[in-house]
Amino acid sequence: MSLRVLVVEDDREIRALIQSSLSVEGFDVQTAVTLREAQALLIHSPPDLIVLDLGLPDGDGVELVQQVRRHHATPIVVVSARHQEAQKIALLDAGADDYLTKPFSVAELLARMRVALRHRGTTLAAAVTVHALDDLRVDLGLHQVQKAGENLHLTPTEFKLLARLVRNAGRVVTHRQLLADVWGPEFTDHTHYLRLYMGQLRAKIEHDPAEPRHLLTETGVGYRLAVD
Ligand code: CA
Repeated sequence: MSLRVLVVEDDREIRALIQSSLSVEGFDVQTAVTLREAQALLIHSPPDLIVLDLGLPDGDGVELVQQVRRHHATPIVVVSARHQEAQKIALLDAGADDYLTKPFSVAELLARMRVALRHRGTTLAAAVTVHALDDLRVDLGLHQVQKAGENLHLTPTEFKLLARLVRNAGRVVTHRQLLADVWGPEFTDHTHYLRLYMGQLRAKIEHDPAEPRHLLTETGVGYRLAVD
């Protein structure tokens, strides 16, 4: 059975492009132009994944994310225009899985969808505990980080920060989410902590900390652990 995708987008051209590209890939695509329409479709035929535009004629996409998250783990990939940066972060904090900034390629959208689907699948089965890419290997179960086969020594905070990114490998994690989960909810404004510890982590993990291969910056949003 093909996966069902709900595309919520009011721009006719973009909607048609996404719909036809996803159909070609074998997805069963439904579309909605407004929040209300999307809400109706969610009740009558719950999708396996939602592609959500931020600016909709009858409201803010964050409403839909909150509604979905109350009952479902359905992956949500947000597509936004560049000027919607602040809104985009609010959506990720509300539980959206990832985002793409317009204009984006269909290949990028498909890649983000695959990661989001895989993550939702694995969180239901078993949590991701091992991450390996190039010469970096992180084993959360063993509490071990290796670079080219050598054990690295991380401080407890560095390890917590890296572990948070490993559990969401391939997906962006916002500054707010990282600060809340690693330092605590009262530290969500202390972005200088993040900059400091991310610098230390990069110095240990990356070959060239100035050109990170693993710990990628999502400017103004957060960080992403590279998976390929
Ligand atoms: Ca729009």
